[in-house]
Amino acid sequence: MEKQLENGSERVVLKVEKLRIHYATPQGDVIAVSDISFDLFEGETLGLVGESGCGKSTTAYGILQLVQPPGYIVNGSIEVDGTEVLDLGEEELRKFRWTGLSLIPQGAMNSLNPTMRIKDQIIDVIESHEGKQKSKEALRDRIFELFQNVGLPNRIYDMYPHELSGGMKQRVCIAMGVALHPTVVIADEATSALDVVVQRIVAQTLVKVKDEIGVSLIVIGHDMGLLAQIVDRIAVMYAGKMVEIAPVENIYAEPLHPYTRLLIDSIPSIKERKPLKITEGITHDPRNPPSGCIFRLRCPFAWEHCAEEEPEPIDAEHKHEVACHLYDERFEERRANAFATFANS
Ligand code: SF4
Repeated sequence: MEKQLENGSERVVLKVEKLRIHYATPQGDVIAVSDISFDLFEGETLGLVGESGCGKSTTAYGILQLVQPPGYIVNGSIEVDGTEVLDLGEEELRKFRWTGLSLIPQGAMNSLNPTMRIKDQIIDVIESHEGKQKSKEALRDRIFELFQNVGLPNRIYDMYPHELSGGMKQRVCIAMGVALHPTVVIADEATSALDVVVQRIVAQTLVKVKDEIGVSLIVIGHDMGLLAQIVDRIAVMYAGKMVEIAPVENIYAEPLHPYTRLLIDSIPSIKERKPLKITEGITHDPRNPPSGCIFRLRCPFAWEHCAEEEPEPIDAEHKHEVACHLYDERFEERRANAFATFANS
């Protein structure tokens, strides 16, 4: 799925094509990511959403070449600024991490080394790529500037992680993630372990830093409400497939894929009381996906054709792509009837 940003840069900094990742099990391979393709533009923030186990984090780890056995990349291409990441050797990859691609991991609060001062952890990142720095003062000033970028006070320089709050530790991880000005930063559920107020502040910090430092950002999460406030586009994944990708305002105003509609419908509202919508149907065995559309066992609009042919991404509207047969012009009438039923349910 490829789109261009209308108001931002049209330069693609990350191009993912046909990425497929499996986990080997004694009972057969589990398909975690199934031939997904998308572009990330310079300066863009892309949200990657979907329910737990849909392959969002595996996609991130695949892009970063951090998939651990029994996981493995079956096929695909991951290009960052013209560099094919899958062709890099171990040493080249080590250098590329933090400078080309960096990760703010899930549970980042626990990823800091509890026995090292904050300054030493950041200095480690910098010196592992740039070698021993001659001027300690210049290095300290550089770290202070990073602290300023992420809204941290200079006094934490000499502190240990246990002396910081959860939100502060998360900001340290953001500072480390952008310390070497990578082309692409991937934040994997970076705010999920925080309380809601801190979540919002940290998410905003992430985007502010992205703009100040000039990186492109992928934010992985399942909180559609939070993502809506910080991303430019949203890509929706279901069972390892990318089912819809669109500018954030389009996807909330008019979600196209039945799964996205159900996801958005499930966002709680403090303005209106509404019954919780349950997505009926069963989730398939990931070792044995259904024929045709991956969502058909849970889709309220599925019909025979959905079992016969896998839907390809369709450019349904300007800058809005969806993988669903209802947007195939052959089935226009079916689409109108289906959504009239949905609106009245
Ligand atoms: Fe539902 Fe069919 Fe569209 Fe899949 S292709 S989402 S089963 S209507």
